[in-house]
Amino acid sequence: MPIPAAPTAPVTPVAPRDYARARLGEPCVTQMHYARRGVITEEMRRVAEREDLDPALVRSEVARGRMVIPANVLHRGLDPMAIGIASRCKINANFGNSAVTSDIDKEVEKLRLAIKYGADTCMDLSTGGGIDAIRQAVIDASSVPIGTVPIYQAIQQVDKVTDLTVAGILENIEHQAKQGVDYMTLHAGMLLRYMPFIAKRKMGIVSRGGALMAEWMMFHHQENPLYTHWDEVCAILRKYDVVVSLGDSLRPGCLADASDEAQFGELETLGELTLKCWQHDVQVMVEGPGHVPMDQIEMNMKKEAEVCHEAPFYVLGPLTTDVAPGYDHITSAIGAAIAGWHGASMLCYVTPAEHLGLPDLEDVRQGVIAYKIAAHAADVARHRKGARDWDDAMSDARWSFDWEKQFALAMDPERAREKHDATLGHEAFKTAEFCSMCGPKFCSYKNSQDVTAAWDTYMKETAKGTPAADLKPGEIAAQAVKERAAERKVALAAAKAGAG
Ligand code: SF4
Repeated sequence: MPIPAAPTAPVTPVAPRDYARARLGEPCVTQMHYARRGVITEEMRRVAEREDLDPALVRSEVARGRMVIPANVLHRGLDPMAIGIASRCKINANFGNSAVTSDIDKEVEKLRLAIKYGADTCMDLSTGGGIDAIRQAVIDASSVPIGTVPIYQAIQQVDKVTDLTVAGILENIEHQAKQGVDYMTLHAGMLLRYMPFIAKRKMGIVSRGGALMAEWMMFHHQENPLYTHWDEVCAILRKYDVVVSLGDSLRPGCLADASDEAQFGELETLGELTLKCWQHDVQVMVEGPGHVPMDQIEMNMKKEAEVCHEAPFYVLGPLTTDVAPGYDHITSAIGAAIAGWHGASMLCYVTPAEHLGLPDLEDVRQGVIAYKIAAHAADVARHRKGARDWDDAMSDARWSFDWEKQFALAMDPERAREKHDATLGHEAFKTAEFCSMCGPKFCSYKNSQDVTAAWDTYMKETAKGTPAADLKPGEIAAQAVKERAAERKVALAAAKAGAG
């Protein structure tokens, strides 16, 4: 797996997917449909190339339902990617306006920023005004898959949640599919029989879509309309190849509610809906918790894989403690790293603004970077092919005091340079064998390299047969340090000449 390009590297333009549009009009155009018939699509080839996988493996994973490729045939500017256990752990960044703040340019800017820092997919969760225009602008500007929650728009179009109709919901799903949405969160797994469990919770339902759906179900005293009309939903999605992201309406909203009967009851239904999706050749992933103590995360990942037949798991965090508002990108990235290690395929980011307000651009940057760290740490822990090459390259750059390379390899190169230059901004310090953390006298990298050089020289002298009594360790060490400094000077001059 190649070391990822630095986030500031220019984005390679994506060739428009006109080949995909040609499939339009067929009753089923999903990647799963083709994979099950032995066809390796252009999207599968691109995924194989990006992931350094065999295209045949990509095809078989998609056919099995263990990997999804969110690629609506109408999303022209998409660069196909994959979510699944055989591929790199992915991250999603959410944004979108609310009724309180609304700005189309700002949302597109958030999308660009999220992609720049490495978001693999983005969800437009707008609930304020101009949802249609924002969504279209976001899809048109995006090379990564775009996800939505169609129920938000369906609710916007009626006075009260309870006025929602099945026809209205299905119309919205199709409308968004026609706009090019690549995956949709559908809260179809919460059933009437789980309602008594909710009352026992500390924090009830914390999923926006789930709470709205529950309100409708209680008012009409009817079963979840998405559940009862699931075949119709699938019939729409398979025409455009929209991936279902099965929403976890009953995800725990606090540690006290984690792994309870409401969460696991709904999970059983999500497993049932997964199989139904596959009967329609519709690609599906399953959304997961929420707020979970660290010691329960591995069990949650294993349970999902078992109950939902190994469909890719797409987790929100999970947050590992409830007491750090303002820092929930950290509380949740801890959980996300553990979840990724134990099998989650995609991690939905949480920003420092979580529980407090709508994320701004700096929140998006911090959230994306926190999750890139979590996903990469999970890939390293899972021993993915080549995952650690990036870390090893950084270690080499550190050991050789190659500051420019360290910045280039950093997950956030601009921030790394900014931090270094805040104290040692002069160009001369870009070749220094120390930074301001320990200073020249205490730099352990430098001191350790001097020790190694002294030891090597001492051993060479011994090998020459010099009697021990004649060896002068202090002089040998001083000479070795001098020689190492001279060698470094020559190497730096050569590097400078090469760069010039
Ligand atoms: S001064 Fe300290 S922190 Fe800086 S490079 Fe040397 S060992 Fe690392």
